[in-house]
Amino acid sequence: MKRELTCVACPLGCPIVVEFEGSEVISVTGNTCKRGDTYARTEIVNPTRSLTSSVKVNGGVHPVVPVKSDKPVPKDMLFECMKVINSVSVDAPVKLGQVIIENILDTGANIVATNND
Ligand code: SF4
Repeated sequence: MKRELTCVACPLGCPIVVEFEGSEVISVTGNTCKRGDTYARTEIVNPTRSLTSSVKVNGGVHPVVPVKSDKPVPKDMLFECMKVINSVSVDAPVKLGQVIIENILDTGANIVATNND
């Protein structure tokens, strides 16, 4: 099979064509650099996404604080991760970089605050 992708590893957005059988990548073409090759292979074998959202804050200046995953999580677990994020709240004060949820759903990724509150 062939799949056309747009590399998102940098703003150039190179068009990439990946040829694969099942989860075995046969060739990657169109990428300008190694990062594009890595992105394309990961997208076929184990697609991941960085997760951004917000978490409720108790007693803070704002009602919510923005959060993100400190590493990409498997794409097929994004919905379940969002359910966990939406179910928690954190007490103020919240510090930038504070771990709000450790190792969410055993993905190895922590959900961390991206602002103070
Ligand atoms: S292949 Fe390399 S140059 Fe092209 S978009 Fe991806 S990271 Fe950027």
